Amino acid sequence: MIVSKKAIIDIDNTLWQFSDALYLELKKLNSNCSTPDQWCNFNVWEQYCSFEDFIAIINMIHHNQDSEQYRPYPEAQKFLTTLKNNGFQVIIASHRTPETAAPTERWLVRHGLPYDELHLSYDKTILFPEADIVVDDLPRTLEKAVKNGIPAAGLLFPWNKEYAGCGFELFGTLDEVLEFILVSS
Ligand SMILES: [Mg+2]
Repeated sequence: MIVSKKAIIDIDNTLWQFSDALYLELKKLNSNCSTPDQWCNFNVWEQYCSFEDFIAIINMIHHNQDSEQYRPYPEAQKFLTTLKNNGFQVIIASHRTPETAAPTERWLVRHGLPYDELHLSYDKTILFPEADIVVDDLPRTLEKAVKNGIPAAGLLFPWNKEYAGCGFELFGTLDEVLEFILVSS
């Protein structure tokens, strides 16, 4: 019997460039907003808007996930398809309100992104006890995976590059993340 392995896959800045969408919205509130290539920490938004505005922007983007301009990375479909073809159960896990499930599902379907389960919450680490691989861009999530003994990887960004070498792997493309997963599983 083949026991399938579980891959926990993030959405924002893993399957698409969420930071670009966030930048466009922040810039509407504050034209001085720096571009994402200069976002070297997670609190960069504090210079540009209130916490309430920030949360409202994120929720707005997630509620509009299925809009025409929000596109996955070109490699995203092959990434997920190859995981499934290699025996992984794909759990898409995103830090967002469950109320955005419908637009999120429509977006995944529209762009042909295959998955087995969709987990939308503010604590995806509850999935970790059964996980075999975690893919995310946030160091705190990747660090928790590593602490649980799970191989973890993600795309390299200005906001996580200082954490390279913390037990998880950061790569320039999803193709490289895929190669890492296939080698380490
Ligand atoms: Mg993310």
